[in-house]
Amino acid sequence: MEFANAVIIGGGVVGCAVARVLSKRWDNVFLLEQMPKVGMAASSRNSGVIHSGLYYTPGSLKARHCLEGNRLTYEFCAEHNVPHRRTGKLVVACTPDEEAELGKLLESGRANGLEGLRIIDRAEICRREPHIQGRAALAVPSTGIVASEELVKAYARLAAEQGANILTHARVVRLEPRKDFIRVEIRIGEAEKASTETAEARCVVNAAGLYADEVAAMLGNTRYRIYPVRGEYCELVRAKSYLINALVYPMPHPEGLSLGVHFTRTLWGTVLVGPTARYVAHKNDYERDRLPVEEFARLGKRLLPELEAADLVLAYSGLRAKLVPPGGKGPADFVIARDPDVPRAIQLLGIESPGLTAAPSIANQVFELVREILD
Ligand SMILES: Cc1cc2nc3c(=O)[nH]c(=O)nc-3n(C[C@H](O)[C@H](O)[C@H](O)COP(=O)(O)OP(=O)(O)OC[C@H]3O[C@@H](n4cnc5c(N)ncnc54)[C@H](O)[C@@H]3O)c2cc1C
Repeated sequence: MEFANAVIIGGGVVGCAVARVLSKRWDNVFLLEQMPKVGMAASSRNSGVIHSGLYYTPGSLKARHCLEGNRLTYEFCAEHNVPHRRTGKLVVACTPDEEAELGKLLESGRANGLEGLRIIDRAEICRREPHIQGRAALAVPSTGIVASEELVKAYARLAAEQGANILTHARVVRLEPRKDFIRVEIRIGEAEKASTETAEARCVVNAAGLYADEVAAMLGNTRYRIYPVRGEYCELVRAKSYLINALVYPMPHPEGLSLGVHFTRTLWGTVLVGPTARYVAHKNDYERDRLPVEEFARLGKRLLPELEAADLVLAYSGLRAKLVPPGGKGPADFVIARDPDVPRAIQLLGIESPGLTAAPSIANQVFELVREILD
């Protein structure tokens, strides 16, 4: 590998969606993923929800890309046989105060362009989710679920069919901006057998997820730092999966790190409980000091009073790539931009939820930025 029109660093859902759109238009597109397969990090350690765009600040990149990504993801899944289902979701108010907040949530959803939102009463909650306790709920019809690993693989497969070179076990270790290209140094192969190769890239897309700050720093950009926030899941034991029919969320907490522990019925008929949210010190810390099932039972009982610790088993966890430090302030939105000092580089940072949903729309924005560089 010597010359590249574009090198994409990171083979998560975002990198693979970007590879698909770029390889439609340009040849010599390379996607470099350090792991043995694409999609092994956040892109397969999530809730698999096709979000609607309900919560995000109107006008933000999260709002725009979530709404457009929702439409594009359904379209893509239908066209390429990726397992998915438009289930709808309920955001449930349990107290009079929360019930008063439902109207605001409805308004903010409408301001973001969501259609079909409806506030439903206790009786309708009971018809849809007989085991859930709530005074009222916001019904969101455009939310759904997708097999996230299959989605990533489908983006990557189509990119490869269009001629993109997808390399796994390929870790970018150094980037050197020059006048007409960026020199990319790559460790290729498994640990002891790895060799070093270089490429000259007319454009580089940093889609390295949790490590995007470190990749940005290779280009001299030290403005950003990513803080890993772990989300842990439990699963209902099979015999109790009848307790949840679709997707059930609590009211969002204004300063919360996440949407709150919720229930997600998956395409396989299992029910996820979670994810929780807590800052961890290391970007590979998925398992240390996992919360016990009792804690999930405590958190989940508010919506599902009959939930007991014995109904739960620990499941996987994932790490969010947050730009906001613990207890502090920082960019709450996605960062998607050409680097101010290295204009041949496109930086994607803080691509946390709803990144799975937003990926095809983010990819379209990246396409426009690449066009400025290459055309
Ligand atoms: C617990 C949790 C629940 C979530 N739930 C949802 C949800 O329901 N719906 C939704 O829309 N979103 C959800 N998200 C968000 C979504 O999963 C992410 O936004 C999305 O997966 C980010 O994709 P990515 O490609 O940016 O990152 P990643 O999937 O992390 O991919 C980045 C890739 O870059 C590679 N890489 C890093 N450094 C290098 C290097 N130097 N060289 C080569 N490769 C490198 C990594 O190995 C990795 O594979 C959730 C996230 C979490 C953590």
